[in-house]
Amino acid sequence: MAQIIDGKMVAAFVKGNAADEVKVLKEKGIDVCLAVILVGNDPASTVYVANKRKDCDQLNIVSKEYALPETTTMEELLNLIDELNNDKDVHGILCQLPLPRHLDENKVLNAISPVKDVDAFHPENVGRIMMGKYDFLPCTPAGIMEMLKYYNIDAQGKNCVVIGRSNIVGKPMAMLMLHANATVTICHSKTKNLAHICKTADILIAAVGRADFVTADMVKEGAVVIDVGINRNENGKLCGDVKFEEVSKIASMITPVPGGVGPMTRAMLMCNTVTAAKKQNGI
Ligand code: NAD
Repeated sequence: MAQIIDGKMVAAFVKGNAADEVKVLKEKGIDVCLAVILVGNDPASTVYVANKRKDCDQLNIVSKEYALPETTTMEELLNLIDELNNDKDVHGILCQLPLPRHLDENKVLNAISPVKDVDAFHPENVGRIMMGKYDFLPCTPAGIMEMLKYYNIDAQGKNCVVIGRSNIVGKPMAMLMLHANATVTICHSKTKNLAHICKTADILIAAVGRADFVTADMVKEGAVVIDVGINRNENGKLCGDVKFEEVSKIASMITPVPGGVGPMTRAMLMCNTVTAAKKQNGI
């Protein structure tokens, strides 16, 4: 039976360190502050934003929330971002995705100052990640790297397969594993022989968004399996992309859903906000 990689526990550890840094910054007169913009009332986004507020409260990070109506225009949104970019008391800016259809997501992400871009979605930060010289990493891949570090899982020389190629998870994840000296394969919806490729993985990372996508026959004996997916099964229960019951009998280590990657994503946002505050104050 695989060892459970406990995301909640690692997240608590990471948040504890971040809280210590917030305290030190406060002693220097710096109140770490995160601004979160929510446009419209997508139920999942509303929950995510509320969770971010809770995390900020827990760490004594000032949280500023901007809940804008569904009808917000591009100009109004860009004006708010401009205001926050120029507000020296705001260290991190995050615009909750997805945005309503009439708003241009790329334009919005490009408008956030790279030094306040705590999601690390700005092209400048994406480019830095490619080059391996970065201040921020996107929260989900960063959280996975932290979990691997915590559990002493060394990626060097290992075969790593990432399923999914999104800009938010799959692509940066693959890049970070490459920086960690793994041999990386990215699989996606057009990949042929996907099961066979997955079976070569020492570290298998699933970021597809489909319940029960990764089955036991796709997993190598002793592999480390990281499940990024957040799905609902036919009973409405939260589940990942990995068929946990059967894969956990084959893997050596596995992240559960819930309680795996999710809490780490939240924790890394807090870390990025602290990093932003430090950088902006020359610390
Ligand atoms: P996405 O929809 O942007 O990307 C999904 C990827 O899966 C695509 O690149 C696609 O090529 C690939 N894919 C789809 N069908 C496939 C198939 N049949 N075979 C192989 N590949 C296939 O999603 P995303 O934003 O990358 O998120 C992926 C999942 O991770 C979702 O369930 C999302 O909710 C979850 N997620 C979780 C966290 C967290 O903190 N735990 C954070 C971000 C995303």
